[in-house]
Amino acid sequence: MHEADFTLSAGPTLASSRVQQALGQPITFDYDPAFLAHFKATERLAAELFRTDKDVVLMQGEAVLGLEATARAVVRPGMRCLNLVSGVYAAWFGDWLRSYGAEVTELKVPYDEALEPAAVRAEIERMDAVDLVALVHSETPSGIENPLAEIAPIAKEAGALVYADVVSALGGTAVEIDDWGVDIAVAGCQKCLGGPPGVSLCVVGEDAWAAIDANPSAPRGTFVSLLDWRETWLASNGAKFPYTPSVSDVNGVHAAIAECLDHGLDEVIERHASAARACRAGVEAMGLELWPRSHDYAANCVTAIRCPEEVGVVETLAHIRDRYGVMLSGGYGELAEKVFRIGHMGSGSRSLYPLVSVSALARGLADLGVVVDVGAAAEATLESLSASGTVVTA
Ligand SMILES: *Cc1c(COP(=O)(O)O)cnc(C)c1O
Repeated sequence: MHEADFTLSAGPTLASSRVQQALGQPITFDYDPAFLAHFKATERLAAELFRTDKDVVLMQGEAVLGLEATARAVVRPGMRCLNLVSGVYAAWFGDWLRSYGAEVTELKVPYDEALEPAAVRAEIERMDAVDLVALVHSETPSGIENPLAEIAPIAKEAGALVYADVVSALGGTAVEIDDWGVDIAVAGCQKCLGGPPGVSLCVVGEDAWAAIDANPSAPRGTFVSLLDWRETWLASNGAKFPYTPSVSDVNGVHAAIAECLDHGLDEVIERHASAARACRAGVEAMGLELWPRSHDYAANCVTAIRCPEEVGVVETLAHIRDRYGVMLSGGYGELAEKVFRIGHMGSGSRSLYPLVSVSALARGLADLGVVVDVGAAAEATLESLSASGTVVTA
């Protein structure tokens, strides 16, 4: 079977030709000085993207490795954690916190809404003390963006460590690690950066390292050990790896981040916002309902759409893929049969890709007998893109 002609999914997503070329470079010895320098340069570029002076650790597996590694390092039994839940990933993170022995308080909102800073402040005040506040910046499964910029300082002020899953936020929306006071953050490369799914970009600040040092159960001598990276790679100032890194993936990640920074991070973020606006306009014009209750907190990385009752998510996506060669996403976890998701990440946020995804969804639904306005969807998408101005960031 041939791959889809258009990969406009919730990630992994389209890679640019620059990223693909980097992935095709020779596989070098990891101790070739050229690769050591390249690895260090990739860390520096990632730090620039995170807008941080904190340590950046490139864990050699896609984002779930980074999330697990950082959580296991920092969370000790009895730790008082406030887990802020507005979606599937945050709920999953709570299960991890509990399994590491943390005392977990959960503040939950419906999955079609965003967290509210005032409610977070009130919950923190209700708790005697809080050691760690965890949240997901951009909930990819429901296309919702949480106000990390406002929540992180509230948590920091209360003396808590701030843990943020920014997997699908980095490169698609503003992420200001140092300004906002985020202590631990984990990003992936296969979302808004349009890189390969193979490396986790982890930020670990001084306060986080102190908590890790105070945690007797922080792992050592395993693939998920953050301490191994500190005690070999960071301690040797980039001369020694704890194990062989994924050479090709690192090359791909370097290219993806460099491409983003060359275009200008702010311009790339604006491009993601434009693509998201255009998709939302198209979806509403065709007569469907967005999953997020408000445009105010709809994410820049994916647009989540309520599936009409007459059809199923899986059959609709299969039809669109078979007839038009366009790969969109369904829901995930509890939302699996409820939503369609259009990805507009990395290269997929450029040019007329939103028109491709919106038209494919509209025409595909019409083929299956759903009453949607295909022409209005296309027109509204184009009008929105046109109103945004240049959407290629060359
Ligand atoms: C993609 C993603 C992850 C990592 O999950 P995978 O599906 O394994 O890539 C974690 N958190 C968020 C918010 C994500 O978007």
